[in-house]
Amino acid sequence: MRAEARGSCVRLIPRFEKLSSSCQGWWLVVMLLGVATTPAIAQRDPAAGDRDAPVVRCGKAEAALRLMRAAKVEPPEQPAAAYLAAMGDTDVLHNDLDIELTNINPATNSCTITGRNTMTIRSTTGALTEFQFRLRNQFSITGAFVNGSTPVTVTAPTSSTRSVTLDRAYGIDEVFTLRIEYNGTTVSAAFGSIEVRTHSGGIPVVASLSEPYYAYTWWPAKDGDVFLPGDNSDKATLDFALTAPSSYTVAANGLLEGVDLLSGSRSRHRWASAYPMTTYLVSFSATQYNSWTVNYAHPGGSMPVQFFIYPSNDNASNRLGWEKVVTMLGTFRPLYGEYPFVDEKYGIYNFPFGGGMEHQTMTGQSAFSEGLSAHELAHQWWGDAVTCKTWNHIWLNEGFASYAEALWAEHKPGSSGLPALKSAMAGMKYTGPGSVYVYDDEVDSLWDIFDGSTSYDKGAWVLHMLRHVLGDPSFFAALADYRALFEDAAATTEDFQAVCEGHYPGGDLDWFFSQWVYEEGAPSYAWGWTTTQVNGKQYLLISVDQTQSAAYPRFTMPIDLVVGGSTVAVFNDSDTEHFVIPVLSSPASVSFDPNAWVLWGSRTEGAYTPGPPTIVETSPAPGAFVEARDFQNTISVYFHAPVNLAPGDVSLVGDATGPRSFTLASQSGVNPVVLNLDGPLQADTYTVTIGDGVTGASGGLALDGELIDPDDAASFPSGDGSPGGVAIIRFQAGSMVPQSSAWGVLVTVFGVLIVATVVLHGRRAAPSLGTVQSQPVLRG
Ligand SMILES: [Zn+2]
Repeated sequence: MRAEARGSCVRLIPRFEKLSSSCQGWWLVVMLLGVATTPAIAQRDPAAGDRDAPVVRCGKAEAALRLMRAAKVEPPEQPAAAYLAAMGDTDVLHNDLDIELTNINPATNSCTITGRNTMTIRSTTGALTEFQFRLRNQFSITGAFVNGSTPVTVTAPTSSTRSVTLDRAYGIDEVFTLRIEYNGTTVSAAFGSIEVRTHSGGIPVVASLSEPYYAYTWWPAKDGDVFLPGDNSDKATLDFALTAPSSYTVAANGLLEGVDLLSGSRSRHRWASAYPMTTYLVSFSATQYNSWTVNYAHPGGSMPVQFFIYPSNDNASNRLGWEKVVTMLGTFRPLYGEYPFVDEKYGIYNFPFGGGMEHQTMTGQSAFSEGLSAHELAHQWWGDAVTCKTWNHIWLNEGFASYAEALWAEHKPGSSGLPALKSAMAGMKYTGPGSVYVYDDEVDSLWDIFDGSTSYDKGAWVLHMLRHVLGDPSFFAALADYRALFEDAAATTEDFQAVCEGHYPGGDLDWFFSQWVYEEGAPSYAWGWTTTQVNGKQYLLISVDQTQSAAYPRFTMPIDLVVGGSTVAVFNDSDTEHFVIPVLSSPASVSFDPNAWVLWGSRTEGAYTPGPPTIVETSPAPGAFVEARDFQNTISVYFHAPVNLAPGDVSLVGDATGPRSFTLASQSGVNPVVLNLDGPLQADTYTVTIGDGVTGASGGLALDGELIDPDDAASFPSGDGSPGGVAIIRFQAGSMVPQSSAWGVLVTVFGVLIVATVVLHGRRAAPSLGTVQSQPVLRG
């Protein structure tokens, strides 16, 4: 759904206590195929991914919020847990809904509904004696029958909930039907759950919009209670007959099976859908429409795309605007898989609500823009086929549909691609308070559930950043798996995270989902760079500070640096970090996340701030085999900047031969540190340990010394970006032909500017490893 007025002044509620503390562990590097150049920031294409609706914030939003809260109707009278448990006792297989509209009166915004719904219900419990459904109390129940003819008693435990005492206990998997006959005058709630309005100069229209929990204002159905998280996982197939004056055309879900002409100038439109549908997606609109159909050709055949437009809106421009969804169906197919309801139809109908609403197979829209059409069409995959299980997880609907607007901008015919994507995402930046996840104390507010800033915009950014973390192939493969696992069903954030973790090396994405879905805010960065030369080799030095509000977490994200045309990533995960990157020559320029893959509030380039010393090279190198006869009785340790140290900061121990004594050539302002031995090495495997008593000669920060692999020179430069951490280096001495140094191998293999790619820094607290994760990162 996309409402007309979006956004709100969300409450600033610390959420951190609700988080698991599992943000530790180690980081693996996952890279997209990089881009070697920095595209210019494109101007936003107003026709691509643009928002139809003004974003209302602060004062206006507060006023809207008061209105929205005033629209609240009956409070829930059952404890949420008990209600949800009762919902799990049954599986509604089919709704056979048959209603007639009379006394249609736009002046009072109401009409009379006389109808019945016959539910086919499977018991999922051992002895089902009661069944609860929802129907508002202005409707009278005129008949209730089980299995066609057995009358049953219906009580009304609350003003919106009905309880049926069944004729007997139904065992597990037993199936029965329950027919509820009812009539009454409609009362519209919330967004306008059942509206009687006019268009085109006075033509009446009756239309429904039940999301999130307002189906009970017009039809009897199993559904969650108002202001509760609900449960959208029970989906049913649908027969939907609607009788109205013959001048009305009825648009509804599924396929139109026929129109019966009845006495009294009435017509009965019979729609049906064989695709399971959750309650809030059942909808209709009845009015005078102009309609037409365009075919969508797909690999399996073709599907009708039906349009129902108000006569006053019927012009070539609007028709062309809506017909773009036919192209969109083909554009989304390779990204998401085939349209989920391809055996029936897709449709768009004019409706009297602002924005759009993704009723299954039949979207209501009041506008004609590409962005809105792309958003609502994408909901057919994300929201309808796969539905958020409860309203806590609405971002699985709205964030996905909002990101689809950006994907359409990226992939539509003639698009500039990445610049268009970047521009679309820039239009959805939200870095403020409020979490993407809707906590239980917020599901009583439509404004909090459908918060344009968090559920929509930041929800879209969650996917955008996840795409960067996983890389395109894994991201879209994860979407395919997510769809396959939860199609015709419902999913939670935890379900989606688990699917994504299956596509993430190392498997743990708690760090990502915790900070971006469950917590608030976004990072801001202050960064700088410089270069240095050590032992004839060039290094790029980067400093990164996170400067966002103290109320927000410190964020962990891979950040792209474009260095002279090549892209590398650093894994930034704390307030202040420093990175040392080997390069072949001093770069003329360095760009920080130039393609905007991270939702930052700001990224300010300033002076480089010196960081802790890191080890960039040793002789012998880690993992080296030293020919004893060639050994010069010295061990050299190169830092990226000079250091001070004491003799106790360095040790040399042979596995078999034990500690080996040495003297330090110098201890103050030195680089390299040289260990002078008193004689040749015996054949053995040696460990050099350099403690973090070693400090920078300038600044005094402790050594940043961790190495992921003491036997691998590719672990250099050392460290995790923050001061502290012991370096352990191992090599062998003996009598064999020595191996070439790893440094030489790297230089030989990668004839590019960046030779050893960035150390991806793990969290220092990672207890099991105690060292950082270092992975080569070269992007083509
Ligand atoms: Zn939406």
